[in-house]
Amino acid sequence: MMAFPPFRRPCGISQQRTAMAATSPTGAPPRSGVAVDPALIDDLVAASRILAAEGVLDGYGHVSMRHPGNPERYLMSRSLAPALVTAEDIMELDLDSNPVDARGRTMFRERFIHGMIFKARPDVMAVVHSHSPAVIPFGITPVPMKPTFHMAGFLYQEPPVFEIRDVAGWTNMLITDNRLGAALADTLGQNPVALMRGHGNVVVGPSVPIAVFRAIYTEVNARLQAAAIAIGGPINYISAEEGAARDKVERDVGRAWELWKRKALGK
Ligand SMILES: [Zn+2]
Repeated sequence: MMAFPPFRRPCGISQQRTAMAATSPTGAPPRSGVAVDPALIDDLVAASRILAAEGVLDGYGHVSMRHPGNPERYLMSRSLAPALVTAEDIMELDLDSNPVDARGRTMFRERFIHGMIFKARPDVMAVVHSHSPAVIPFGITPVPMKPTFHMAGFLYQEPPVFEIRDVAGWTNMLITDNRLGAALADTLGQNPVALMRGHGNVVVGPSVPIAVFRAIYTEVNARLQAAAIAIGGPINYISAEEGAARDKVERDVGRAWELWKRKALGK
């Protein structure tokens, strides 16, 4: 019995090494990775829709996963509103964010965020970039994000703030090339979350469900922390010890993931 169901053609990813491929800056066409389990493509599609349904992504933002069969590639949707993503829209890119088989599809302008994080962090299997609104104030004020409750225990590693002005001066705020993507990955360091001043945040994880879980609870935590600050007085945050202990339990996100996925895919 096979470990995975056989590859189905309509997943939108070229499995033919002879397929038309875009040319990388070095002149060599990036070659396709191996076949992808359709269930994993479904997870990536679900992630996009879940994050839209939970208010982390709106018409913008994106989620990606490292290619399960080739760590030098990653998978993400063509440029599309996250709630509309289907398996047909998933593209394969190399870590410099060149498409393997563009077929005329438009790509996200900020895809360099994903490629450069996958390049810098071999442990990362999924990346979420969002403009999730409640998080924005913590990137533009001196107040650091801290975990207010157990679901956001992973925030015990205080999210650093990426300042694009330090890297590129006055810009349009977008991460539109590999130099900016690498600078953002450098700010992220070994953390699960980095804020982007006046823009949004990036959240990473060792799997798609954990990255989605963290992106959702980063947004929820921001709302709760702002509420606690508004109430006033000293705030009794989750400690680093408690957060680290909770982070281990968080790795079991299966129950929430199945619920979110079912709702998002309408199954
Ligand atoms: Zn953005």
